[in-house]
Amino acid sequence: QGRTPDTYAPVEAGLSGVTKRFADQTVVDDLTLRVHEGEFFSVLGPSGCGKTTLLRMIAGFEHPDAGRIELDGVDMVGVPPYRRDVNTVFQSYALFPHMTVWDNVAYGLKRKGVRGADLRKTVGEHLDLVRLGTFAKRRPAQLSGGQQQRVAIARALAAGPRLLLLDEPLGALDAVLRKELQIELMRIQREVGTTFLYVTHDQEEALVLSHRIAVMNAGRLEQVGYPEDVYERPATRFVAGFIGTSNILDAHVSGVDGRWVELTAPGMTRLRVPLGTPFAHGDRVAATVRPEKVHLHGVDDEVPTGWCEFTGTVRDVVYTGSSTQYVVDVPGGDALVAFVQNTRRVDDAGSPGQPVRVAWDPEFTVLLGGTDD
Ligand code: ATP
Repeated sequence: QGRTPDTYAPVEAGLSGVTKRFADQTVVDDLTLRVHEGEFFSVLGPSGCGKTTLLRMIAGFEHPDAGRIELDGVDMVGVPPYRRDVNTVFQSYALFPHMTVWDNVAYGLKRKGVRGADLRKTVGEHLDLVRLGTFAKRRPAQLSGGQQQRVAIARALAAGPRLLLLDEPLGALDAVLRKELQIELMRIQREVGTTFLYVTHDQEEALVLSHRIAVMNAGRLEQVGYPEDVYERPATRFVAGFIGTSNILDAHVSGVDGRWVELTAPGMTRLRVPLGTPFAHGDRVAATVRPEKVHLHGVDDEVPTGWCEFTGTVRDVVYTGSSTQYVVDVPGGDALVAFVQNTRRVDDAGSPGQPVRVAWDPEFTVLLGGTDD
């Protein structure tokens, strides 16, 4: 990280047993989490799950009812926001409209007593960092939304925080700009090395941006892991359903040997999956598999030996360009979704009513305890 100014010493942030209540509602519930030095860490969850409240406690704008919030091992509870080495970037940019871009970025530095050549150098470096060197004299109203958010990021980083909190910073931008700024944010974080704690309800954004992700639901953590972990090996039914699309089948365990679990679900020809988590005969489980792992076969086609397999009828065919999405009704009232990559030219993606076999390699089945009912 060649250009990291000395002021950036990324911090490790630790939360233990953090709880916050508003009236009789527990908004953050006994949350324990460790964000490593220099990590781009995302908290991902649906609207209202407590993400903003969590950030506000780390920034010092809210006080937890219980638990510790540590930066490099020092408890911050009781330390006022301006003494925390933490800065926040908001969805709404929150720039000073009457100031130029340069003055916006200089603002926090001036308050810290930085003047003269040092000030000019640091502001210049940060405008270059967000690629707005030539926009220094403009006012926020003369910039696009994406450019305004870059100014806000430059302003937040210029003051040299050791932890940057970002609360849905791309939420107000259209899809194209959002994608562009995602790439920029990754580059900026890699370049400065500051610890980023990023809050979003957008699962794709979290998967793209983050070193690690914490999935939050109703004030609690469901899973913490690398993007590949939360997507490929969801730990709970909530994670399987919230991140991407999942096929979730209710089944029960009809046999177990040392390495395999045999499952029974209505209409199923076979469902034999490698044993991961221990399950016992009779347990009710949710068997999940991602749609891109599911293959479609003609009713008379050979299906590889040992694959999980259902016979069903195509209900919907949705051609999306790079892939085609098939929804297949299977006996027992369930439907399975298969995403088929269009690696060859597609002249006719098929039509509803066709009988098919859906099958997948059992290795891609993730078994989760419990069912919805
Ligand atoms: P969003 O993405 O919609 O902002 P969020 O996950 O960030 O959601 P929070 O803003 O942390 O969620 O809010 C969590 C819950 O706490 C909500 O039900 C909200 O209404 C409630 N809440 C937040 N702040 C307060 C407050 N100051 N007083 C009372 N309730 C609050």
